[in-house]
Amino acid sequence: MSETGTTLDDYTDRYAQRMIGMTASEIRALFAVANRPEVVSLAGGMPYIAALPLDAVGEVIGDLVAKQGTSALQYGLGQGMPELREQICAMMADVGIDASVGASPDDVVVTIGGQQALDLIARLFLDPGDVVLAEGPTYVGALGVFQAAQAQVVHVPMDHDGLIPAALETAISEQRRLGRRVKFLYTIPTYQNPAGVTLSEERREQVLDICERAGLLVIEDDPYGRLGFEGEAPRPLRARRRDGVFYLSTFSKTFAPGLRVGWILAPHAVRDKLVIATEANILCPSNFAQSVVSTYLATMPWRQQLKTYQQIYAERRDALLTALSDLMPEGTTWTHPTGGLFVWATLPAGLNSKAMVPRAIAARVAYVPGTGFYADGTGQQHLRLNFSFPPPERIREGVRRLAGVVEQELAT
Ligand code: PMP
Repeated sequence: MSETGTTLDDYTDRYAQRMIGMTASEIRALFAVANRPEVVSLAGGMPYIAALPLDAVGEVIGDLVAKQGTSALQYGLGQGMPELREQICAMMADVGIDASVGASPDDVVVTIGGQQALDLIARLFLDPGDVVLAEGPTYVGALGVFQAAQAQVVHVPMDHDGLIPAALETAISEQRRLGRRVKFLYTIPTYQNPAGVTLSEERREQVLDICERAGLLVIEDDPYGRLGFEGEAPRPLRARRRDGVFYLSTFSKTFAPGLRVGWILAPHAVRDKLVIATEANILCPSNFAQSVVSTYLATMPWRQQLKTYQQIYAERRDALLTALSDLMPEGTTWTHPTGGLFVWATLPAGLNSKAMVPRAIAARVAYVPGTGFYADGTGQQHLRLNFSFPPPERIREGVRRLAGVVEQELAT
């Protein structure tokens, strides 16, 4: 746990205003415990890297240093490697984000994962007090970025078809009536983290229309879109609109998060501002990590690897859903993701997933309580369960333990 803000911290009086409300994320604090071998962790969000052909990746990296070491180990461009930006555009074209909607390597900015992409967006657009609209629940790392920018997150509810358009309209008019400045909608429309739901085709158009009419930018965060394992994912929002939509993605889930390579496709007019902001922030993204990704894409069967990830996650999703329906006490419900890494579960009325954490850890199972995914402290009845990392039999054992904890909670 961080000591920030406690009496143990001698520097409390010196922090910048924006650090005052910043505390360690619940998830990070939980990970230390969840990673103990005796605990079945359904808390993480890690891709199953063991499924990568590590020897072959090792060869690619060795070769890269031997043959292109002088450039791969050198400083690079703030915007990122031109060759990788071309490859990113070729990948985005697969999902309909192509030249016909104005996508070009010139408008791609390579980032240190999707997380730095979010940070850049915040640097560019958020002043203290600005409002960001986001799904409720939403990605915990985005909440951290918006909080650091001293913005206020207002959640828009979802159902099984994703963000509810009427609720979005209400939230916009309500915030405006209160005199607040709403800067953008932050959305994870496909295989959402943490809810595991996907915004339907019809709603994609509605959400875009609402934002366009209201003059709101849309920040589309899409780390999971290529990790579908049941039916086709609807085309991204950016494939449907050229203006006003920023598209963020990452190689963290399609290749490996340890490389920390992601990107933003920005409207042309703001591309330069993004590059200036990233240069002030990090000089340039790692040339080495970009070269590894670029060589991997050029020389290895990455589409096949995606299929491998999809097959593994489909099997684990099935293991989780089956275990939940076999073992959880009545009154518990959950989402049925068709891709991504997470299931969002709702406990029987009256139970509190955050208060339950110590009992769950004692029973050797970990999950993330729903409160971590809301800026306003709600979400107590929910929890996020990850299925990408533990093997199926561990998932079932984890749910067995979790069900025991919930049953005890109900009995007390
Ligand atoms: N956005 C979402 C919705 C995420 O779930 C994550 C990581 N779990 C990220 C962004 C950041 O990913 P990374 O920095 O590893 O690319």
